[in-house]
Amino acid sequence: MLSRIKMKVGRLLGLDGLTWRSAPNGLYSVNFHRIGNSKETEFDPCVYSCTTEELDAHIKFFKTHFDIISLKTLSEMLLDNTKPSSKLMCLTFDDGYIDNFSNALPVLRANDVTATFFIATGLVGSGHVPWWDKVAYLIKYHQPKSLRLAAWRDDVIFENCQERFIRNVLHAIKSCKLPAQKQINQLEQALLHQNGYPAAEFMDWHHLKTLLESGMELGAHSHNHDILTKLSENELLYELSHSKSLLESSLGCDITAFSYPVGSKSTYDQRVIEGLKDTGYKLAFNFQPGINTSPSTNPYDLHRFPIAPDMTNADIRRMFSYAKRY
Ligand SMILES: [Zn+2]
Repeated sequence: MLSRIKMKVGRLLGLDGLTWRSAPNGLYSVNFHRIGNSKETEFDPCVYSCTTEELDAHIKFFKTHFDIISLKTLSEMLLDNTKPSSKLMCLTFDDGYIDNFSNALPVLRANDVTATFFIATGLVGSGHVPWWDKVAYLIKYHQPKSLRLAAWRDDVIFENCQERFIRNVLHAIKSCKLPAQKQINQLEQALLHQNGYPAAEFMDWHHLKTLLESGMELGAHSHNHDILTKLSENELLYELSHSKSLLESSLGCDITAFSYPVGSKSTYDQRVIEGLKDTGYKLAFNFQPGINTSPSTNPYDLHRFPIAPDMTNADIRRMFSYAKRY
């Protein structure tokens, strides 16, 4: 919130150029989800970060202003306790959607950069549709004008914009203490949904193998992509260890990096971090903007900037310039 006020004031005073030039050295990580045209999916359009053309433009911009480093280099820096002496960047993609392979990979290769893909292993080649995509599909298919589950605080009302309605329903589900899948079952009942879902849009193991062979890196993003702080001790350890061992055994690689599902402050805590340490992870990314000026101080709480549709270079510059420093 504070950085948003700083951004407004800085803009009014014409300080954007100055703050950009004086942005500190550190690790600037960016996060993408889906790449492509959000109108083409039957599922959640809000998971799209940008089009393929925008991704190409963003990466060219990043290459001009940052040293794009691999996860391997970052891990070595953390191990050596090295503070970044320039502006470094890690490119990350969460969830493992098929367009990461079909749309993002060619752009990354053409620009000769490495990115890390954080994979929710329960979605790999399983045909399983995740809860946020189910919500969007249910809304598009049944077109309800309002929704309310017993465990929600308020009704969620449709107000002429389907995308905003989907966003608000997803927010209600994330804010509710019940596990997401339980809420989906209740939504399906409320909407009398009996027709199942279209094929899921995620990468399979062969796609992941090709990513690795193309010089990309992988991390884990849990197995079922549920919010980790809502889970019992056993469920939590399963999410952390099963996703790691499944990636390692299926692909013959070491998995030492994690990104928290959803990734806001309330979705991980010290118990989750201890679980990560116990299962052999060396670092973890959240999904909150911020410059990691000293990444080795909190390797299990590395900040990432979200890339959103229609962002221009000026928007990105401002997002970095006024960001909180960690
Ligand atoms: Zn995710």
